[in-house]
Amino acid sequence: MAPEASVTARPVRVRVAPSPTGDPHVGTAYIALFNSAFARQNGGAFVLRIEDTDRSRSRADSEAQIMAALRWLGLRWDEGPDVGGPHAPYRQSERSALYAEHARLLVERGRAYHCFCGEERLAAVRQQQKAEKQRLGYDRHCRALDRAESARRAAAGEPHTVRLAVPLDGTVVVRDRLRGDVEFAWSQIDDQVLLKSDGFPTYHLANVVDDHLMEISHVIRAEEWISSTPKHVLLYDAFGWEAPEWIHMPLLLNQDRSKISKRKNPVSINFYRDAGFLPAALLNFLALMGWSFGGDREKFTPEEMVEVFSWEKVSLGGSVFNIDKLRWLNEQYIHDLDHDALADVLLAWRLGQSGLRRLTPLVRERIKTLSDFIPCTDFFFSLELDYAPLAGELAIPDVSGKDLGRALSELLDSYEQLDGFAAAGLEQATRALCDARGWKTKHLFMVLRLGVTGRKASPPLFDTMEVLGKELCRFRLRRLMEFVGQRK
Ligand code: GLU
Repeated sequence: MAPEASVTARPVRVRVAPSPTGDPHVGTAYIALFNSAFARQNGGAFVLRIEDTDRSRSRADSEAQIMAALRWLGLRWDEGPDVGGPHAPYRQSERSALYAEHARLLVERGRAYHCFCGEERLAAVRQQQKAEKQRLGYDRHCRALDRAESARRAAAGEPHTVRLAVPLDGTVVVRDRLRGDVEFAWSQIDDQVLLKSDGFPTYHLANVVDDHLMEISHVIRAEEWISSTPKHVLLYDAFGWEAPEWIHMPLLLNQDRSKISKRKNPVSINFYRDAGFLPAALLNFLALMGWSFGGDREKFTPEEMVEVFSWEKVSLGGSVFNIDKLRWLNEQYIHDLDHDALADVLLAWRLGQSGLRRLTPLVRERIKTLSDFIPCTDFFFSLELDYAPLAGELAIPDVSGKDLGRALSELLDSYEQLDGFAAAGLEQATRALCDARGWKTKHLFMVLRLGVTGRKASPPLFDTMEVLGKELCRFRLRRLMEFVGQRK
């Protein structure tokens, strides 16, 4: 398929489309910022759409957290689940009927087909492909079925998915604003499931249908989606719709230049909030990821960014998320605050009424004078703790440092599975790990206490962790894991 000859000018409408599957990610803010800047510059609209069709991965509180985090950064959208708009609803789980209807249309046109293969058959096919060292993918078994016959089976209620009929040979060109023409061979692209057997759409179908219905003119998203774009181009063609312009932004990277990941770099926006970064500094920092203002200017507001924004200044190499750089920028922003404003941001951070009220239940029985308060709670107001002086204590009898490190990593994973970060759940997960390893709880609890608070005596461990919050606990326990894991 050749790329469209030219993209006709249409009103600028762009979107960010996060899936509510976890903590609010810096990558979402990064993409939201560029969408928002482009919309503002062109007098267009910026839409927030929640892509919550993957029911097994969606998490109840994630959507609200994503919106709160984007708002904390100062980002605003013109249309979205909370503010409404002409194309409501903006939550895909409320649009299911639309996707099913569009899948049906594609089947009618012969551009998609019913697939009755069950998990068992698909697994067997995969197995065989692996054994024969072939490319993994659906073998198109049901594509050969007689159309009337498969329509009858589907109508009779036989479980099925709907798959996209991808061309068997030839190539497709994705015209990307930043990369030029990127060619893909159809032979590398699977007959993608569009509608699952539970009637819910996959990302590809829902994303394209909504981008079209919401009149999205430019799809500005992260580079990792470019390999999905051929399927999207094919869907636009199959529906007979004009495709948006494609703009795939360079990825955010860990220091080692791998794609940013929470194992190597804090990725939750809430971490940066809790660690005491200013939203304006974080937003400014994200603007520098892959884009340059011009000259060697590094500090600027979103409004100034909008004034000079252009795609030409995006560089494609990928951008290392360098926390030292962010810290440097944050320092500039702090220096810019006058004394009253600095007091205000400290109050809004953890020193205001709501922050202190969370601490008082933990310390009331432990302080004799008010002046004991700060020494008793200092670890709530810092980021990193120094474990070197505690090295002798940070151990479990007869357990190697390596094993302890591994256990901490497992523990962090089990905390990830919890809904929220409440004391009861944390305690349960920690006790379960002790049981599984035959460790005395008092030993692991002490290691955790030292890791989280830096001291042997503290308010009750799990209540302390709950109040300290997921982000700072996770950060410290990761550091602790690295510290103990290095030892024999
Ligand atoms: N729901 C996808 C995400 O989680 C959206 C990707 C896109 O922008 O098309 O990032």
